[in-house]
Amino acid sequence: MKMTRLFFKTMRETPSDAEIISHQLMLRAGLIRKEASGIYSYMPLGFRVLRKIEGIIREEMDAIGVQELLMPALLPAESYRESGRWDTFGDEMFRLKDRNQRDFCLGPTHEEIFTGTVRDYARSYRDLPLNLYQIQTKYRDEIRPRFGVMRSREFLMKDAYSFDRDQEGLDASYEAMYQAYRRIFDRLGLEYVVIDADSGTMGGTGSQEFTVRSEAGESEIVQCPDCGYAASSEKAQCIAKSKAESEAVDRLQPEAVSTPNARTIAEVTGFLGCRETDLAKTILYRADRAIVAAMVRGDREINEAKLMSFLGCSSLEMADEESVKSITGAEVGFAGPVGLPVRIIADLELGRGQSLIVGANRTGFHLKHVVPQRDFRAEYADIRMIARGDPCPRCGTALEFGRGIEVGHIFKLGTRYSESLGCSYLDESGSEHPMVMGCYGIGINRTMAAIIEQNHDENGILWPMSIAPWQVIIVPVNVLDEKQASTAEHFYQELKKHNVEVLLDDRNERAGVKFKDADLIGIPIRINVGRKVAEGLVEFRLRYEDNASTLPVEDAVAAVLETIKKHGGS
Ligand code: ATP
Ligand code: MG
Repeated sequence: MKMTRLFFKTMRETPSDAEIISHQLMLRAGLIRKEASGIYSYMPLGFRVLRKIEGIIREEMDAIGVQELLMPALLPAESYRESGRWDTFGDEMFRLKDRNQRDFCLGPTHEEIFTGTVRDYARSYRDLPLNLYQIQTKYRDEIRPRFGVMRSREFLMKDAYSFDRDQEGLDASYEAMYQAYRRIFDRLGLEYVVIDADSGTMGGTGSQEFTVRSEAGESEIVQCPDCGYAASSEKAQCIAKSKAESEAVDRLQPEAVSTPNARTIAEVTGFLGCRETDLAKTILYRADRAIVAAMVRGDREINEAKLMSFLGCSSLEMADEESVKSITGAEVGFAGPVGLPVRIIADLELGRGQSLIVGANRTGFHLKHVVPQRDFRAEYADIRMIARGDPCPRCGTALEFGRGIEVGHIFKLGTRYSESLGCSYLDESGSEHPMVMGCYGIGINRTMAAIIEQNHDENGILWPMSIAPWQVIIVPVNVLDEKQASTAEHFYQELKKHNVEVLLDDRNERAGVKFKDADLIGIPIRINVGRKVAEGLVEFRLRYEDNASTLPVEDAVAAVLETIKKHGGS
């Protein structure tokens, strides 16, 4: 492609509304164009990269026998009603009506329609296992679209769905997908961690996220430097140090202390002159219909995802003021476990052998010397958020905290969708069972942004060879110089003959402008054809390295081919 013909426009200034580097560079390099909040067009340069990422994903999906198909993005409401997600998806789902007032949505994710399709096609154990995927546009009306294509409202996803007879089958499908994901992200040149993830509202029996290390990431991850344990901070397991049973704590009985207007942990510690760790906070929640109380130490935060999974409920929200008042008999801020007439779930750290300060269920009062399991009964579970200084649940080493970008997510769904949508098969003896499902997503645009987050310098993008929009750019330093122009053109034609993806910057621009653009758009190999061409020499530069080398013109093609190969291009 000759740059005089290429539809592109680069920008020198950093756009003010782009907070993270990938967003800035995608705009500056002219890869994308913003149409509305969270909605982007891809210009030819950006689209080529997107297509290459898709290409790698396709190859790896095909290699493990997952079949590609294409579902619509405009979907009727019925199957989402059958699964119950028409209601639970909430405002994130783009909804619309057709001329006959029938409900439709723009698909945010496709479990329902894949399940419905397989239900209608596959009836026998002989049809299983089945594993299908598509690369298709998804729509989510995110509360806060941001960071460019990283969290957008229209994006491309590779979504795959597996259908097996039983858990064992699912485990095998999941494992094959896990390995394929590793190959995909390796080929994309990404540094990533696979973390145990929260399965959130999807419901399921196991889920992992492929997370690219980056400070720009929205996910907080914890990792053990010794044993390799890695998890999202949402899911990370907290272990409680066991307390030595002490008889001293049993000698004192609960005692009400006046704490007027002290409701928050800070106010109570300030007022009583105690430490946060001496306190336990009691928070009332509405879990589905029931009110429950959750307790964590004063310096800890409740992890609602863990609490939900312990309770097995599908909705969880803080109880409203009226409920708190009627159950505790006190204003909000004074709830405590002693005598509380609801189910109490306490964090593992609040075990026996300690004396706690808790709310007294009486406005303006707290109770001290409260001993768990003596003064109140609770069910114990890990329901707190992991915190700095916490040990690895596997080996005890202090965990490290970092941030990451979730680019892929694999779930063991089980029978959640096959049961609600009636997707079952008949076994050898003719009895019917729900299929056991998995689902597997990769955000393609987000992956592209993540690659930039990990591969850039102050001058622009450094595309890995495997996905660079073009592998080589030839820059005649002065296009008005006959010899430079003809050598560049000849070289361009030669490389094309060898199927190299090559750009020729034939624009009549200053050399500096052309070099800046080449760096900004991140073409891996640059050949400068300048004055030295009179001596039969050209300059060879690799975008990933600082130094350039000078080569005889006749060696340049071989050098390019070798470099492409060495850097994993094809
Ligand atoms: P997040 O927690 O970031 O909202 P999610 O859990 O909603 O992600 P999934 O439903 O698992 O995401 O979707 C699969 C993949 O699609 C994600 O791993 C991510 O790469 C991508 N993805 C999800 N939401 C967006 C979005 N708004 N913009 C771009 N990519 C997205
Ligand atoms: Mg989301």
